[in-house]
Amino acid sequence: MAKNGTKEMEAESPFYLCSKAHKPDQSIIQIGPVYVGSDELLIIAGPCAVESEVQIHETAAAVKRAGAHVLRGGLFKPRTSPYSFQGLGLEGLNFFVNAAKEHGLLTVTEVMDLTHLDILAQHVDILQVGSRNMQNYPLLKALGALDKPVLLKRGLSSTVEELLAAAEYILVGGNHKVVLCERGIRTFQNHFRFTPDISALPLVHELSHLPIILDPSHCSGRREWVIPVAKAAIAAGADGLMVEVHPAPDKALSDGPQSLFPHQFQQLMDEMEGLAKALGRKLKRNKGNEKAHHTMPQANL
Ligand code: PEP
Ligand code: MN
Repeated sequence: MAKNGTKEMEAESPFYLCSKAHKPDQSIIQIGPVYVGSDELLIIAGPCAVESEVQIHETAAAVKRAGAHVLRGGLFKPRTSPYSFQGLGLEGLNFFVNAAKEHGLLTVTEVMDLTHLDILAQHVDILQVGSRNMQNYPLLKALGALDKPVLLKRGLSSTVEELLAAAEYILVGGNHKVVLCERGIRTFQNHFRFTPDISALPLVHELSHLPIILDPSHCSGRREWVIPVAKAAIAAGADGLMVEVHPAPDKALSDGPQSLFPHQFQQLMDEMEGLAKALGRKLKRNKGNEKAHHTMPQANL
């Protein structure tokens, strides 16, 4: 057996830099006002996809009112069917960035391929690697060369070890700002869209110093199940949540059935505050930029 910290161990373990053996202390990654990995919870919320200027502004206002820290919104959507809405692409970037700025939110969006990496890295605060791209090694290597937080989602049929090995690609490149995200895995059950792997949360905390959040929306597939799964995740040690919220989910162009109405997100945040306290965690609601003005300034992209 190789000893901790030796070259042999480096070669033996595909997730050496991510491991507790290498770094016993929990990593804390600052995302705006939140120290992710500490006792503070990171809350990311927003629509599956940016659909229009009005839609993203309405959503930003709603999730900010409830106290979210980061606005999510897909510009490039990995859809199962090529006939489904694929996202607005870079056309939606202005809307997205301006909506977040206006409401004092940070931004996260998925980077689906290398060609958009530079522009997205320039304008967005956190880059998301989607489930389907967890093992896109050229993309992971390119993200490793940036000084930018990465939200790495677990592959829908990947083990926790494979998730950590994917994170290792980013760390080994020099970027240590990685937040992992459990988003449900494929199992034989067919009630939920995916099975939320709550066990991954304590397992990641045992094996790795990286923080991990949970996405209760993509595993549930139905908005009725989002709040209970979110609560289970926080109880099991998640460092935060990423939740889909839409001002009119029935009209959403993607993932409407699993998107919360704004009032449901408000309810989730209210309930989460008490739960966090009971568990020795903190939900510091985002109160920044209270006097948001109501114009829509255009960023020069
Ligand atoms: C998403 O978060 O928008 C998404 C597509 O999720 P996943 O990659 O987990 O399917
Ligand atoms: Mn979605």
